[in-house]
Amino acid sequence: MSHALTDRAATIIGAGVAGLTAAIALAQRGARVRVLERASEVREFGAGLQLSPNAVRVLDALGLGAQLRRVALRSHAVQLRDHAGAHVARLDLMRHRPDDGFYLVQRPALIALLADGARQAGATLQTGHAVTQPPEGALIIGADGLHSVIRPALNGREVPFFTHQTAWRAVIPDPEGPPEAQIFMGPRRHLVSYPLLGGLRNLVAVEERSGWHKEGWSHRDDPANLRRAFAGFGGPVPDWLSRVRDLHVWGLFRHQVARRWQDGRMVLIGDAAHPTLPFMAQGAVMAIEDAWLLAASLDREPDQAAALAAFQTLRDARVRRIVEAANGNARNYHLTGPKKLAAHMVLRTASRVAQKRLIGRFDWIYDYDPVAALS
Ligand SMILES: Cc1cc2nc3c(=O)[nH]c(=O)nc-3n(C[C@H](O)[C@H](O)[C@H](O)COP(=O)(O)OP(=O)(O)OC[C@H]3O[C@@H](n4cnc5c(N)ncnc54)[C@H](O)[C@@H]3O)c2cc1C
Repeated sequence: MSHALTDRAATIIGAGVAGLTAAIALAQRGARVRVLERASEVREFGAGLQLSPNAVRVLDALGLGAQLRRVALRSHAVQLRDHAGAHVARLDLMRHRPDDGFYLVQRPALIALLADGARQAGATLQTGHAVTQPPEGALIIGADGLHSVIRPALNGREVPFFTHQTAWRAVIPDPEGPPEAQIFMGPRRHLVSYPLLGGLRNLVAVEERSGWHKEGWSHRDDPANLRRAFAGFGGPVPDWLSRVRDLHVWGLFRHQVARRWQDGRMVLIGDAAHPTLPFMAQGAVMAIEDAWLLAASLDREPDQAAALAAFQTLRDARVRRIVEAANGNARNYHLTGPKKLAAHMVLRTASRVAQKRLIGRFDWIYDYDPVAALS
């Protein structure tokens, strides 16, 4: 640490995962941090999140690891199943990655612990403050998500495109079930589910579709539509779907990774810089990596313009590769006909004889240590 951040003022727009983690990382290094959040209180939808070790290393370094482990379940495995429920592959995380935690957590619990952490570190959180244009100030951090006001100020207007996929998400009561993520892969649709602390289960169901109206998080839908779309699915799925009461649906849009993340005064982090499809479960994880590395970059290089440029260089290639991996998974989960039979056979065999290699395909994501990267 160079102490370059001591007493520097920083304004963060958005109290989501990116903004709150950045608030903690910057305030712990001595910065005077103000977070502006448009919602009237800092809270989140009741859905779940998977957090992989590359994010958990940051939360540990921020001193939040024990709290995370109190509100999260450690995931033991990832099960790949076909739409009828038959097992295709099981990736045993406890066996192959015994030293790393993959955690399943409710978003509200994660946001609450980050908000507490930010306040304890000395940051000020101002709710009910919708930013409509980039504010004055020497350091402005745009952590304002998909519809960022800072991103167009740096990049001009950009148009996302619809991926022809829509996603439903719901949380149902389910006191049983092993602590593992299950992915059911069907023709042109898939469903991901995992348990959450407190006898709950998270469901995300993705269907390919031709048309959609509006990008956004909080459109409600009738559970009958979800049950109809996944009527051909077997195993535990029909029972889970019969328990869905409160359901949200949204269209999945693709955005490019921002060309310009910073201009020496303003900088983007999290979804504001690189929204991703959810198929690698890395959106919030990348936001956490960004937050740590932004603070570390600013702390080691007193020249802010140089620090922000170095930050973008450090992040750009990695986040592009992760976003591409998520795009690839969208295709792999939804195969049909002979392609699906062949792919599932390969997975079944690999699961039996080469599981370490199967799990190891994404070591480059999970082995990354943001804390060591700029220590
Ligand atoms: C179905 C689904 C499942 C997912 N699962 C996972 C997963 O398992 N693991 C994972 O790592 N990621 C997952 N993600 C991705 C993850 O949710 C996002 O990448 C992450 O929330 C991005 O965090 P953020 O802080 O950048 O943005 P956001 O969470 O969008 O937060 C932005 C904040 O800024 C505020 N804001 C916006 N505009 C303004 C403004 N003008 N003024 C003031 N405040 C403003 C908003 O109110 C909000 O609080 C998933 C996403 C989806 C859709």
